[in-house]
Amino acid sequence: MPGGNGAYIRNRRRNSLQYPAERKRSAMITFPQSTPHPYKKQTYKELESRLLREYDYEKLGTASDEKSCIYGLKYGDMENKPVILLSACIHGEEWESTYWTLHFFDCVIDPEKAEPPVRHFFETLRIRYSFYCIPVINPFGFEHSRRLSKDEVDLNRVYHKDKYAEVEIVKKRIAELKPVLVADNHTAEMPKETIGVGGLGNKNIVFLGESIIKSMKFIRGHNQIEWYREPVQENVNIGRGWISGQPSKSSHSVFSVIVEAAREAPLGSLQSKAEFGFNAILCTCLYADLYFRRGILGGTGKQVL
Ligand SMILES: [Zn+2]
Repeated sequence: MPGGNGAYIRNRRRNSLQYPAERKRSAMITFPQSTPHPYKKQTYKELESRLLREYDYEKLGTASDEKSCIYGLKYGDMENKPVILLSACIHGEEWESTYWTLHFFDCVIDPEKAEPPVRHFFETLRIRYSFYCIPVINPFGFEHSRRLSKDEVDLNRVYHKDKYAEVEIVKKRIAELKPVLVADNHTAEMPKETIGVGGLGNKNIVFLGESIIKSMKFIRGHNQIEWYREPVQENVNIGRGWISGQPSKSSHSVFSVIVEAAREAPLGSLQSKAEFGFNAILCTCLYADLYFRRGILGGTGKQVL
């Protein structure tokens, strides 16, 4: 029969591609990369007036410079929906993180601000979760583009103490909100982009980290990107070590992620940093959502895959 055999093989191929279990195993989240709007450094006062003007905000307290206010921005029903908390600029020279984090938060508030191919993700996320954003943890560092606080303290290394205003403020709010996911945004003096994934349940976290990085390589279109399992659960002096030991509103501890854009060429441009940061938060939120809903991470209290 002319052509008969070929048709059979084609059909078999098609069938095997459509076999549901096969598709489920190979499911990978991917989407066209978004490029956040151009941004430039403002003074803290300029940024502050934008926060006051554009957001539903809370004044969380005064920073250790004894004059700058730290703000928390709110979206959604934080009493009844799981909270995703985004934070940025605990290291002041990494001020770019504030801008991509705010752009992400803007897209949650108004998905029309997101690029069309990813708009539906924001529409879904804002229905399922409430969001809380601390855009600048270290206002003095932001103002002066320097890593440390006014007292020369690396605020991301003193979470075991209660004597630094910025850290106390963040710890207090996380303890109250009990978020399911915290994404803390940084840049790092490296040619690679990195995502550190922390939380309890080792197999789950490894699986999640591998999934996120596989997707991010597709989304970013390069391989200069790595994830690492945060070995910080015991190191409560480090921000994410303390955070990943906290209870979330589900029966799990917080799923804690650090997003670090590369500062070195060829990935160190303002645009590249923002692209990485924004898309990494989105990718992380989508995988976390998938895992939460399957009961793999959080939700049901199961710690096994
Ligand atoms: Zn940092």
